[in-house]
Amino acid sequence: MKIVGASIRIIALVTIIVFSLTGCENEGGGGTSCTHNWEWTVTTPATEEADGVETKTCSLCGATDGIRPIDKLIHVCVFGEWTEKTAATCTEAAVETRACACGEEETRTSTTGLALGHNWNWSTYTSGSGLRECQLTGCTVTAGIGDTGPAGGIIFYVIENGFDFYTGTAAADNNTVKRNYLEAWNSNETAATWGPSGFVVEDVRQVFSETNPTQWIGYGRRNTKIILTALGGDTLNRAARLCDNARHAGLDDWFLPSIDELNELHKIRGEYGIPNTGVYWSSSEFSTTANAGTRNFSNDNVHSSGVKSMSSFNVRSVRSF
Ligand SMILES: [Zn+2]
Ligand SMILES: [Zn+2]
Ligand SMILES: [Zn+2]
Repeated sequence: MKIVGASIRIIALVTIIVFSLTGCENEGGGGTSCTHNWEWTVTTPATEEADGVETKTCSLCGATDGIRPIDKLIHVCVFGEWTEKTAATCTEAAVETRACACGEEETRTSTTGLALGHNWNWSTYTSGSGLRECQLTGCTVTAGIGDTGPAGGIIFYVIENGFDFYTGTAAADNNTVKRNYLEAWNSNETAATWGPSGFVVEDVRQVFSETNPTQWIGYGRRNTKIILTALGGDTLNRAARLCDNARHAGLDDWFLPSIDELNELHKIRGEYGIPNTGVYWSSSEFSTTANAGTRNFSNDNVHSSGVKSMSSFNVRSVRSF
């Protein structure tokens, strides 16, 4: 009996295996039956361009019972290398672009093709010949306040039609040339006094005028020369002498600005590297003989002066071109 029972169990197991392998033929028929085992299987994979298809398929017999779509794949751009789209200009950095095969394009500001900056190329400029245009092709910007002048200093006064610049060394010499620019050196000379006690130079008495605040522009170099002559045997560091002796950028035409020239520099105090502290000498004598004109770069006050022999004030060399 034991052997018979075991045989029955083996026969039943074999029967189940056979039905499993051969499928679902008997479904709906009489006797032993099985059911389909439906699974959705991908029959056409989705792409970025088109939907795919899944088919309801019996895993046992392969019968099918309908289809359904699979959504298109979401496109993820794959970009190529960055290439230059537009070249750098004087004021704008280069722009770079990169593209995906789908046509999508990205742009960015170049991290290496920085703005070129204007190129004035002062070496080919003639002093007083008008405003200097940028020498780079296609750029028509002219050099102005805050730009770098021929000596590497800071342009602080610009007149399109030019101003009369006094080239003489004495008050009687009224020779002038046309100039368009004043340029300040980038740092001060040594702080100094203006002259010895009792030093009077009436030929450079030029009081700042609020109604005509540029009447003494163009006088600074002649003032400086007149003061030097007046100093005579005095050899101490004086404001005018320090400027006249300056050789910044190898140039010997530096001078102590007149009161109105200094006023133009004062207008941009705190900008372009111009200080916003300290009192500065001009080359203009003030209304009283003991004093010379100054500007205080710490404030906007118009009128100020210092005692020539007593005050050790700041000195800034300038030049014209
Ligand atoms: Zn089936
Ligand atoms: Zn793409
Ligand atoms: Zn330019």
